[in-house]
Formats: sequence, structure tokens, C-alpha cells
Amino acid sequence: MIRKCTVHGYFRGRSCLQCKHPGRYLLDDSREEKLGRFISGTLRHFPESVGVEMDKRGWVNLNSFCEVIEKRYTWMRKEYLYALVESDRKGRYEIRDSRIRARYGHSVNIDLDYPESNLPYLYYGVSPEEIDVLLENGIFPIKQRYIHLSTSYEKAKEVALIHTENPFILQIDALKAHEDGISLKIATDYIALAEKIPPEYLFVVDD
Ligand SMILES: [Zn+2]
Repeated sequence: MIRKCTVHGYFRGRSCLQCKHPGRYLLDDSREEKLGRFISGTLRHFPESVGVEMDKRGWVNLNSFCEVIEKRYTWMRKEYLYALVESDRKGRYEIRDSRIRARYGHSVNIDLDYPESNLPYLYYGVSPEEIDVLLENGIFPIKQRYIHLSTSYEKAKEVALIHTENPFILQIDALKAHEDGISLKIATDYIALAEKIPPEYLFVVDD
């Protein structure tokens, strides 16, 4: 559920994370989930099929997107877009100048314009079945537009554990890769995006 604290803004759950005030009710769990799924699907995968126009950087006009959502869910209000975006702890979306976009997770062919990472290392978790193939061929996106790398070892492990029980964590020599002209874009505090990482920049981290 999403509620709004007059002091600290939108939040998920029953009380504000900062002042514990219950705030004002906006969306129940079911609507939050429906809206979340539709926004994620549209901004990452199928803008065209629902009649939403997306520019090369992944941006969509907030008002026209809202109209599209209203056709599907009559209870929709524009404020819910702000509520969903601002209360998202993973920072999945951003709103700027009356436009909205997903920050990562795209399968549509866009070209995101984030700042280049200056972190010395980035991390990527893989299953024991995949590790040899990746060390030999490097990392490439399969269905997604970009590979999603983690900004810390801990995050990479957390993400990998969702899909595999005993992940290997690969460390990427990000400074070297960057020097060699490989683009590594910082999408959120936890995620960097790349189009490919050749094998010479990959090392297995020992636990
Ligand atoms: Zn509060």
C-alpha cells in the first residue's frame, strides 16, 4: 500500500518510515501491484503496443501516459504516478520535466544517457552453470538492452541469490574497461549498465 506523509512524502506500508505517522491513504496493495506492473511493462518493454510514445532516452510524456492508464484503470489519478515513483526504494523510475522513464530493466531499444561510472570495480553474480561460458566469452545482454552490473559485491550476491543457490561473483575491472572505451553507465546507487563486458576484464572473487 502507498500512503503520503505531509512531511516526508509518499511511502510504502502502514506508517511513514521516518516519523511513523500513518499519513494519508492513496493506493491499496492490489492497485499498487496492478499499476506497478503496467508502468514497468510499458516503460521497459511494450510502449508501442499500448500506444505510448517513447523517445530515444526512454522518456514518455507524463500526461499522455496517465491518459493511457486511465483507459485501463478508471480509478487512476496522476498523483499515483508520483506516489509510485517517489516511494520506490529501488529507484526504478524517474520523473523530470513532465516526463517519466524507467531507469533500468529495458528490453526496448533505447539509448540511456547516464553519467559514466568512475568506480574501480563493478560486480556480476552468475550461476555455477554459467560461469565458464562467461569467463570465456564475456557478458552480453540476452533479452535486455543492457547488462545490469552491481556497484558492490554484496548487491551482486543479493541479486544472484534470487536466481541461483550458490552464485559465483565476478569482479569487473571497471577502470580498465572504461580506459579502453567501454561505456559503463550509473543508473542508480546500486546498478550500472553496459552493452558488453569482454572476458579480459572479468575475475572471479573468492569468498
Ligand atoms: Zn513522516
